[in-house]
Amino acid sequence: MKTFQEILLQSDFTREDLVALLSAEGEERQQLFQEAQTVKLQTIGNKVYFRGLIEFSNICAKDCLYCGIRKSNEKVVRYAVPDNQILDACRFAWHNRFGSVVLQSGELSSPEFVQRVDLLLRKIKELSNGELGITLSCGEQTTETYRQWRESGAHRYLLRMESSNPELYRKIHPDNGFHRYDRRLQALQDLKATGYQLGTGVMIGLPFQTTEDLADDLLFFKKMDVAMVGMGPYIEHEDTPLYRYRNLLKSKSERLDLALKMVASLRLLMPDINIAAATALQAIDPTGREKALTIGANILMPNLTPTAYRKEYQLYEDKPCLDEDAELCRNCLEARIELAGCEIGYGEWGDSKHFLKKN
Ligand code: SAM
Ligand code: SF4
Repeated sequence: MKTFQEILLQSDFTREDLVALLSAEGEERQQLFQEAQTVKLQTIGNKVYFRGLIEFSNICAKDCLYCGIRKSNEKVVRYAVPDNQILDACRFAWHNRFGSVVLQSGELSSPEFVQRVDLLLRKIKELSNGELGITLSCGEQTTETYRQWRESGAHRYLLRMESSNPELYRKIHPDNGFHRYDRRLQALQDLKATGYQLGTGVMIGLPFQTTEDLADDLLFFKKMDVAMVGMGPYIEHEDTPLYRYRNLLKSKSERLDLALKMVASLRLLMPDINIAAATALQAIDPTGREKALTIGANILMPNLTPTAYRKEYQLYEDKPCLDEDAELCRNCLEARIELAGCEIGYGEWGDSKHFLKKN
């Protein structure tokens, strides 16, 4: 039987090893965080890259059982941020030397939506002389749409698997053709084949989820050979069907702790990928994202969504930074990042070293 120290110092990990890492407490937990920090600094350094997040529409055709902006939540006022405001947010990002932006939305696949995103991509490239990197996070689309958007300027795509366990996936999604595990998996493969730097991720602390499921999620990221992972705690929302299982949940601080262990373990498993410090960490602990940066994450997504729309993009309760404008957010972020011992990679795309090495 391996000691914890022996597990930590390996370069490859079994499911059992990962379960041990995710279960670490006390001194061993500290050793895990310390080792992940060392590996991060040795492999990718201490730079944090900004991706300015623009949640440009909350109109969604899907009904994921955990999500506050799901189609059936009639309390949500639906919006689509006008193009000029999206472009203003991008201009802000460019002037403030954020290397990249992320365009995120509910999932739509109408020709109008596809065309709109396409036009936005071209305009963002134009206004920034091609300098802003663009990540899309607009859900599952056809291969043709992925190709079109790739050609118009998007070079990364973020599509979380949500859970790599097909059974758990079924429990947190409606039982219909739009929410199928295989469809999601195929979408990830299509995105990769189209040449995107693929980002995926899962929610941590879902009802019915076990530590073994999370270990499998980590092995799934490795098997998919992803360039980036964005994963964060699941946080309940009272207007969603999954809320009825809130009694099964770990406490929020336990979910935060598990999310940090997931980040640290992933840094050991895939040393040179990009790992985001998810916004949901901050919803539980005001310094949750900085903690993640210290022990393994290297990507931060400051929210650039115009403030008027933010309260209608409530994926979960207590979503942070609801009324801070972009400038305030940036100032508070700089101080926090320094505190975490990191440096901001201003004006850099900060592409995944893992991806660049392979392509
Ligand atoms: N519609 C696109 C999609 O689903 O891929 C992108 C936007 S969606 C709101 C972005 C992510 O929010 C999802 O992948 C999911 O993991 C996360 N999310 C939704 N509801 C959540 C909740 N209650 N707690 C934590 N994360 C949540
Ligand atoms: Fe729509 Fe994405 Fe929320 Fe699912 S997670 S309901 S696809 S916005």
